[in-house]
Amino acid sequence: MFDIDTIRKDFPILGETIYNKPLVYLDNGATTQKPRCVVEKIEQGYYTLNANIHRGVHYLSQKATEAHEEARKTVQTFLNAHSSNEIIFTRGTTEAINLIASSFSDEFMEAGDEVIVSAMEHHSNIVPWQIQAARKNIALKVIPITSKGDLCMDTYKALFSERTKLVSLAHVSNVLGTVNPVREIIEEAHKRGIPVLLDGAQAVPHIKVDVQDLDVDFYVFSGHKIYGPTGIGVLYGKEEWLDKLPPYQGGGEMIASVSFEKTVFNELPFKFEAGTPDYIGSTALAEALNYVNRLGITHIANYENELLEYATTRLMEIEGMRIFGESDHKSCVISFLVGNIHHYDMGMILDRLGIAVRTGHHCAEPLMHALGIEGTVRASFALYNTKNEINTLIEGIDRVRKMF
Ligand code: PMP
Repeated sequence: MFDIDTIRKDFPILGETIYNKPLVYLDNGATTQKPRCVVEKIEQGYYTLNANIHRGVHYLSQKATEAHEEARKTVQTFLNAHSSNEIIFTRGTTEAINLIASSFSDEFMEAGDEVIVSAMEHHSNIVPWQIQAARKNIALKVIPITSKGDLCMDTYKALFSERTKLVSLAHVSNVLGTVNPVREIIEEAHKRGIPVLLDGAQAVPHIKVDVQDLDVDFYVFSGHKIYGPTGIGVLYGKEEWLDKLPPYQGGGEMIASVSFEKTVFNELPFKFEAGTPDYIGSTALAEALNYVNRLGITHIANYENELLEYATTRLMEIEGMRIFGESDHKSCVISFLVGNIHHYDMGMILDRLGIAVRTGHHCAEPLMHALGIEGTVRASFALYNTKNEINTLIEGIDRVRKMF
């Protein structure tokens, strides 16, 4: 079923060489590579299906509309949403969180109200709330983390007050790899009547997500991190919430009728999709999700867990190794430092060996402050990585260590 050699052939870029070395791509947390079928879907879309959607009576426009709406259904099935009206296409995770931050705080928050986030959030789940905080004088409450990189759940429960209006958290940390106990998080919030937004950017490529089973109110992710194209992402929202939220942007598509006296907004999901949507991107994203479905998310998760375990064991053998994020519930992201070697030096020398890792604060500066460091090296794995590639990484790190 899970034949890695066949899978790797689906991703032409994996055959590239960098500085005459075979590419070892371990920066999947930032973006994943694309299988041939996704790239072909984009090409095919522009060559055979391109016409603006929804407003056209002509054949091509109708075909493009059908493809876009079919893609919405694919996402609906992928997340097990109750209705395709609950699937809004956005530019990505960042835009989806900005949409909720803006519309939710406009409708439901006033000065003094609070949003709960955590110390391990990506900037995209901090800054949109800070922008609203400045506009509306609302406050962020932050769940701290333990030394292993888990959320302090007792503090979480203690953070709720009568001013809490929303909980907005990463499902999986892009630095620590921690898979947060989202079921418990949601139950605690719902006990108090508070909705929950989950940032699933680092979760959907690696674990099965069922929004109805989780009973999550809002769930967001980016296409490019799950083998799809850049510039397309998803906001899932329960219909009962999305119905109550005001539009985020105004323009074409999102209206039912417009006059200078009164504009009537369109129904879901179009109310939140102002302007021409990325209908080529949505169909290519659906192709990527179908690719993941064909391999099976459980097979992917099992394989990636094997890689994570292997890589962790091998890395820990290296002298001076410090791994940040040692939760018992981890996804395949490993952040580390070796001795006093600066993360940039490590990253730059590994690059010369053909190994792509990420260095720096990973858009999580508050987490770096909490850890008392400036940055880390991060190796993040995807379904096409191999133990051999991990061996190359280990040899590379060892080489760098001996140089310093
Ligand atoms: N949240 C998390 C946890 C992420 O890892 C990322 C991407 N690094 C984002 C949000 C932002 O995603 P995008 O840039 O695709 O909007």
